[in-house]
Amino acid sequence: MRQPGITKPAANEVEGMAKGTTRRRFLQGTAAAGMIAATFQTRNVALGESSGSIQISEPFHGAVLNHRHGEQTNDGLRIRVSGEAPLRDRVTVNGSPAERQGTGFVSHVVLREKETEIAAVSEGSFGRAEHRVRVVWDRPSQPRYRFSIDDNSFFLRDIAQKKYSSLFDCFYLKGLRELNARYGVRFVLNIYYTTEDGFELPQFPDRYKAEWRDNCEWLKLAFHAYANKPDRPYQYAPAAQLIADLDKVAEQIHRFAGEQTYSPPTVIHWGQVQPAALKPLYQRGVRALSGYFRPNSTGWDVNYLFDDARSEYLSRHDTLMDFESGIVFSRVDIVCNSVPLERIVPTLEESTKDPKEAEILDIFTHEQYFWPFYSNYVPDHFQRLDAAIRWATEHGYKPVFFHEGFLGLPPRAAGPQ
Ligand SMILES: [Zn+2]
Repeated sequence: MRQPGITKPAANEVEGMAKGTTRRRFLQGTAAAGMIAATFQTRNVALGESSGSIQISEPFHGAVLNHRHGEQTNDGLRIRVSGEAPLRDRVTVNGSPAERQGTGFVSHVVLREKETEIAAVSEGSFGRAEHRVRVVWDRPSQPRYRFSIDDNSFFLRDIAQKKYSSLFDCFYLKGLRELNARYGVRFVLNIYYTTEDGFELPQFPDRYKAEWRDNCEWLKLAFHAYANKPDRPYQYAPAAQLIADLDKVAEQIHRFAGEQTYSPPTVIHWGQVQPAALKPLYQRGVRALSGYFRPNSTGWDVNYLFDDARSEYLSRHDTLMDFESGIVFSRVDIVCNSVPLERIVPTLEESTKDPKEAEILDIFTHEQYFWPFYSNYVPDHFQRLDAAIRWATEHGYKPVFFHEGFLGLPPRAAGPQ
């Protein structure tokens, strides 16, 4: 797709470049020819990458925008586009002249489609440069939350060993069901294949299938990892290994709980996978993945090995679309097992204090902290969940599953609102 303003090559563009020439080869070529780097061939610039001295600062490539990020008009969402370009250059954004303020530029674009490409072009004495980004319009957006619980395995072993007459005779599922009855909360439980002490999913009976089905509106099971150990099992694993483990767990969930209870994974154990694994995950139905996107001593962690720019962006935004895979990445707002009860509400308030980042809540915890035998048992874990869910409910957040529709909301028909 070409944007207005860049369909014709500028007079000072390099002629005779084969289409598809990589940027590196081109740079080498221009260096050999003694050319200056500003004379990029604009048509070959990758999305999200600037061809030189122009840079769109906002919106970010992959930004997911809703009514909080612009002005909702009859025909779309009008958003501000801003950035930096050489002082005297003429700048256009999607073909319209932008306003210059020193080295800055500002323009507005109306989003009318689910995805919109924004092209900022500068032209001046050093030639022409371009930066393109693509953004997603989350048109039907409304405040919503998704609760997912990681590292699940003990409750399945417990039910299999105790042979309860009901799933909810297990205190863990009973506690989750009470929260559902109180608030309508929905849970995705990300599970392991084995507890590594002899219990594996094939030992889990299928005699609770009807009960799983009766509760599938609020309780889903998803793959998380083969086992709790080793740490970071898929950080450097080939995509094929991750997918093979996923398929193994998925097959078991279908066998003992049925298709209605199955959810694609919401978090891969430790939030780290090889970039090559993302497309295969999408093919397995993954539409959203959560991570922490937190800084550590060497860069960023629990960030699906994203680059620094995108990790930093996600550390202070709700979501980001990765167009290459089609997966939306979501930053976890709270990890209940690591936040003391009295800090639950302040943590949620802090996480939503910027109204622009207050639309989508990603609430999260881990199963092991519910169990008294676990070394880091959290006795008030259920109270923490209650506090988080009560706050979300009282502040108008609707419980959703992110893999349904777009981040939990069905698409709305096109046309004026
Ligand atoms: Zn995990």
